[in-house]
Amino acid sequence: MTERPCSSGPGAFCYDADSTFPCIPFLHRDLHTHSACSDGALAPAALVRRAASRGVAVLALTDHDDVSGLEEARAEASMLGVRLVPGVEISVTWAGQGIHVLGLGVDPCANGLVQGLDGLRKDRASRAERIAAQFDALGIPGSLEGAARHARNPATIGRSHFARFLVDRGLARDEQDVFKRYLAAGKPGFVAPEWRPLEQAIGWIRGAGGYAVLAHPERYKLSGARLRDLLREFRALGGAGLEIGVASRMNPLPMLRIAEAFGLRASVGSDFHTPVNGGVDVGDTARIPSGHALVPDLEALPVAA
Ligand code: AMP
Ligand code: MN
Ligand code: MN
Ligand code: MN
Repeated sequence: MTERPCSSGPGAFCYDADSTFPCIPFLHRDLHTHSACSDGALAPAALVRRAASRGVAVLALTDHDDVSGLEEARAEASMLGVRLVPGVEISVTWAGQGIHVLGLGVDPCANGLVQGLDGLRKDRASRAERIAAQFDALGIPGSLEGAARHARNPATIGRSHFARFLVDRGLARDEQDVFKRYLAAGKPGFVAPEWRPLEQAIGWIRGAGGYAVLAHPERYKLSGARLRDLLREFRALGGAGLEIGVASRMNPLPMLRIAEAFGLRASVGSDFHTPVNGGVDVGDTARIPSGHALVPDLEALPVAA
């Protein structure tokens, strides 16, 4: 496969040999990543360095319900010539189910967003206590303290930190195994999330000047009809984009068609958390064939200082 500059946009490249598509602009974007300010493994600056070393030119840091890593990421990005899109991944409850909405290009100091995220982090803290009580009842004491030790930013304590504690204790093989046995919906350590409504999350993002993007739609295990309900509502509330995530990497076309049917633009991201041999790395995103509308519109975003 040969890579050559492409005219389809800033930082765009085409893969034009032995590829499924005749011309696939590879925008060197990764608009969904995590740092240790939520449940990622790397400090924000280390994440940016890894992204730069892997050829990512436009990077969004999207920590769960938190924007505290953006300043460090922005400083590193400006030294390395990476364009940093300030982002966040907001936890929402929709029809009783947890879903994630990315805010891309947000002003991290905007009042409504700051207050909204603050409330969500308080909800995280009380959910963590309830999760720990479930583990106590299962005969696994000390999980709140154990999880907190794994959270470099205790304000964003979440299920991944509990998972790391259980792996440490030798109670599971790896984090996936913990989710499968304890933390996924319906399992004994699961506490049904009570996040905020979709309307509020989209409102905070738009109020902060950002684009709302529905993250990893294939992960919610919704029927076709329910996914359509969600997308209709998301669009009506001011949602701008649909993430073409790692699950659609091999063939992004079906998800692109869905996005277009609902008037949503496409966004690409890896949802990178942790460097794992053979796992999804920062920059491993779907490649969108030219001619599809992307979000965010980089021209409309402030250039990182
Ligand atoms: P929380 O926001 O605390 O409910 O945690 C959600 C996070 O848990 C996701 O962003 C993932 O990082 C992680 N997660 C969810 N499901 C799994 C799974 N099956 N295996 C590993 N990690 C998972
Ligand atoms: Mn996560
Ligand atoms: Mn997510
Ligand atoms: Mn994520």
